[in-house]
Amino acid sequence: EVLINQIAAGEVVERPASVVKELVENALDAGAQRIDIDLEEGGVRLIRIRDDGGGIAPEQLPLAVSRHATSKIASIDDLESVATLGFRGEALPSVASVSRFRLVSRARDAQHGAELRIDGGSLGEVVPQAHPQGTTVEVRDLFYNVPARRKFLRAERTELAHIEDWLRTLALARPDVELRVTHNGKPSRRWKGEGDLLSELRLHEALGEDFARNVLRVDHSAAGMRLHGWIAQPAYNRASTDQQYLYVNGRSVRDRNVAHAVRQAYSDVLFHGRHPAYVLFLELDPRGVDVNVHPAKHEVRFRESRLVHEFVYRALHQALAETRA
Ligand code: ADP
Ligand code: MG
Repeated sequence: EVLINQIAAGEVVERPASVVKELVENALDAGAQRIDIDLEEGGVRLIRIRDDGGGIAPEQLPLAVSRHATSKIASIDDLESVATLGFRGEALPSVASVSRFRLVSRARDAQHGAELRIDGGSLGEVVPQAHPQGTTVEVRDLFYNVPARRKFLRAERTELAHIEDWLRTLALARPDVELRVTHNGKPSRRWKGEGDLLSELRLHEALGEDFARNVLRVDHSAAGMRLHGWIAQPAYNRASTDQQYLYVNGRSVRDRNVAHAVRQAYSDVLFHGRHPAYVLFLELDPRGVDVNVHPAKHEVRFRESRLVHEFVYRALHQALAETRA
């Protein structure tokens, strides 16, 4: 069992940033409005994520860290339309198998909190522990028991940069959630909860003033799909694709098909061959998109990718053409 979890960890847990991603997504799935992220040594020494979400009842703690135990899918049919971020029940057992792991939680309306420790995959006892409503997951000494993987970890600054890149990606999609980050005991980043979705302020914070000044708002709906967000004017175009943020039903993904449609609309209207910077949210019927392609969920597969391409192309073509008119 420990070995299976460690093998699964190979897929789910690549580096500290992937741990942060899984834990923060769990916090969001639990309805957190505020998430505190404490890191030491680029997350290698410590990742501690505390949320104010719904929490976990004491008797559910062992279940939360057991393999394929997810509270997010009731039947196999649900797989077709998962709205939550996690749904495989793999993250916690995987992370716990390659670290010194601690889970503390107090469920909504519960009188007491409880704690469960796991050391390199071996399960401790559930013991009472004081905790405000919500959950804290603590991951120490990542890969301490898997030297072959530990070897691939990079310098502290590099690992921290990966974490911050991912948090920026998240912050753009969830301006309603407050995120606070500390590194080695010092505050390193704070995203205030903005309330409304698609906050211009977050855009500004995440991508800089230059980008925010040169963006065009996009919001287009047709055929049961919606594309909204921002795309930069040619004055702010990049030599690389590093500022292309695409979200499908709230998940950050990379998709060649959509990226191609954006780029094509851009060059057709603006005769501009460089890489447009953008933050775009595509929403469509979850049944039309398969998020189950890769465990890390960076990729999706569209049932009707040609339709999606056409829709994105049209949406942007129209928005861009309006600014030229
Ligand atoms: P998944 O997210 O795919 O369900 P995980 O291994 O990430 O699987 O988490 C297992 C289960 O533990 C979740 O389904 C959820 O019930 C519970 N859980 C994990 N993290 C939290 C959290 N921060 N708050 C509340 N429940 C959590
Ligand atoms: Mg999860």
